Amino acid sequence: MEYKELENCKLCAWECGVDRLAGEQGVCLAGLPKVASCQLHPAPPQSYTIFCSSCNFRCLNCQNWEIAHYPFTQYKIKGIVNPEHVARVGVQAVNSNAGQMIGADRFFFSGGSPTVSLPWIEEVVQCAKTLDPDIKINFDTNGFPSKNSFRRIISISDSLTFDIKAYNDEVHRTLTGAPVEPVLTNVQEMARQKDQLWEFRILVIPNIVDLPEIQAITEFIVSLDETLPVSFLTFRPNFCLDTHPGASRELMEAVVTLARRTGLTNVHWAGFSGIPGVNPSIPQRIKDQFSLQNSAVAAFYAQRAGCRQIHRDCGKCSFKLTCDLKGYYPCQSR
Ligand code: SF4
Ligand code: SF4
Repeated sequence: MEYKELENCKLCAWECGVDRLAGEQGVCLAGLPKVASCQLHPAPPQSYTIFCSSCNFRCLNCQNWEIAHYPFTQYKIKGIVNPEHVARVGVQAVNSNAGQMIGADRFFFSGGSPTVSLPWIEEVVQCAKTLDPDIKINFDTNGFPSKNSFRRIISISDSLTFDIKAYNDEVHRTLTGAPVEPVLTNVQEMARQKDQLWEFRILVIPNIVDLPEIQAITEFIVSLDETLPVSFLTFRPNFCLDTHPGASRELMEAVVTLARRTGLTNVHWAGFSGIPGVNPSIPQRIKDQFSLQNSAVAAFYAQRAGCRQIHRDCGKCSFKLTCDLKGYYPCQSR
């Protein structure tokens, strides 16, 4: 496993250029690619799912914060794993009775953000295809690979699941810590390669990513191709949003109706709805800093969890290597 490109890492759209092999760190804080866990997974597309550790985003709502926010939770991380070994075990799992019973036909690279581990993933894919040329590959992306990485991802993947976190830059930054422009550029590229798109996934978060934000996202997708598949996922209280209310069934149904009215023809929603929570009262000093109320809500949570900037931009932040938000522990920080 010699990944020379990690000496000048430009795998994701931060394009930090840090020497990961020499211990320098970008926003992802990653060194050599590490695996968190691997398992057969029955959710479509049914697969042998490989969770890679580390992430180039710092989403307030992270579902997999324990592995994305490495190195604070190393007990969840398997570590550096030989790609041939993962390929062999994964091919066996997909072709096993259990794999066939759930309908598994592919490897599914998730995380964290698997982009951080791309050269390692390319090796796994090459080994897996040698062992079983029929094995398929799904890549799960937050839309933030560099342009060059996104081309590489498309070239190794049969399908992509593509998260769009927000459309407005202000909302995207407050929620993820990253600008939206690289994501929207990759959405456009994805639309050109639409046969490989499994679906766009949009998490619906009350008062943060709800109807006005969904309207903006769906209008953007419709402007590219109204037949692109979109799945709306139901927010459940999590990580820095651990006290925020979950999305209700009514909101999810309204979102799908809105998306259809906007022109999308292939939409549905999924997930558990109606988990209770408390809408926060946002201080005026935070509201005054934003043009969109939903950004102010996200900024409130970011500050409460330890972000020291009002306008998040983790790649340029002087606290990116010592960020308190990375050490946030749900329900124990207040
Ligand atoms: S944040 Fe992105 S460019 Fe920077 S080191 Fe991590 S993967 Fe590489
Ligand atoms: S302190 Fe800096 S690195 Fe941490 S979340 Fe805020 S903007 Fe991002």
